[in-house]
Amino acid sequence: MNTPAPDTHFAPRHILGIEGLSSGEITCLLDAADGFVALNRGRQKKSNSLQGLTLINLFFEDSTRTRTSFELAGKRLGADVINMSVATSSIHKGESLIDTAMTLNAMHPDVLVVRHPHSGAVQLLSQKVTCAVINGGDGSHEHPTQALLDALTIRRRKGTIGGLVVTICGDIAHSRVARSNIHLLNTMGARVRLVGPPTLIPPMIERMGVEVFHDMKKGLEGADIVMMLRLQLERMHGTFVPSLRENFHFYGLDADKLAAAKPDALVMHPGPINRGVEIDTSVADDIDRSVITEQVEMGVAVRMACLEAVTGTAATTPAAKPKRKKKARS
Ligand code: ASP
Repeated sequence: MNTPAPDTHFAPRHILGIEGLSSGEITCLLDAADGFVALNRGRQKKSNSLQGLTLINLFFEDSTRTRTSFELAGKRLGADVINMSVATSSIHKGESLIDTAMTLNAMHPDVLVVRHPHSGAVQLLSQKVTCAVINGGDGSHEHPTQALLDALTIRRRKGTIGGLVVTICGDIAHSRVARSNIHLLNTMGARVRLVGPPTLIPPMIERMGVEVFHDMKKGLEGADIVMMLRLQLERMHGTFVPSLRENFHFYGLDADKLAAAKPDALVMHPGPINRGVEIDTSVADDIDRSVITEQVEMGVAVRMACLEAVTGTAATTPAAKPKRKKKARS
């Protein structure tokens, strides 16, 4: 595990994954995002740091939170935002991913936010365009802005990330959220545990610096954070769990299993949640434990910070400046 380094500048032009980002770069993005939380809570939510710039959201997979929050983030920063609907685009006339990207690139966008069902597709696309690219989730590979918003939620609630025990439960094998979180949490000095059935935990994942548990209560013992994941049925080819009911019995989070974690452990979920499949309603809606809606809120702030970072406009944003000196917590 790396020890968090002092604050540094964010260097990369694209954000394709958490892997490879330093603790300083992650801290820099989180600090900037923290500054946007207050702006987003106020009545006047506009800043103009991206005025004159164009953001295109290009989503080849379904999304509610990520696409909407990137749209809001871009608009709140003053950018022109276009949402490309793949359903009505020429992709359905046989145009390739690269041709679509190059067509959009010819219109001189400043940022492309791309979600794609295939791991690696966003990185490939980033090599063909001249603008900045942010990965909105590629297959089961990475979902960097999700891990950043999770980290911001944790940091604001717990005051730190380093030293916390974070247990990620469920479909690890198909989850880009799990992979990005493992990279981020390890880089920031947390202890990461994974819980799930053997069929949903990739072999030798311990090499990523995590501990693996197949007994959920053991994996939750003393945890500060419980991060639940959805079964990614759309990515499964074959049968990975005997039945949804049995999956819930062994790996669904309910009050009984949560009691194994620390009394103040937070419950997180990237959404969309499937009640009764990976999480019980009583836990998902427990206002003392669940921070699921707060994660959504942090998502807008994190995406604003990412948009400024990749466009090199961060220094001109008044909201981002104070956060570099002082980290607000709530
Ligand atoms: N929304 C997250 C993702 O796009 C998690 C999920 O879909 O289960 O990966």
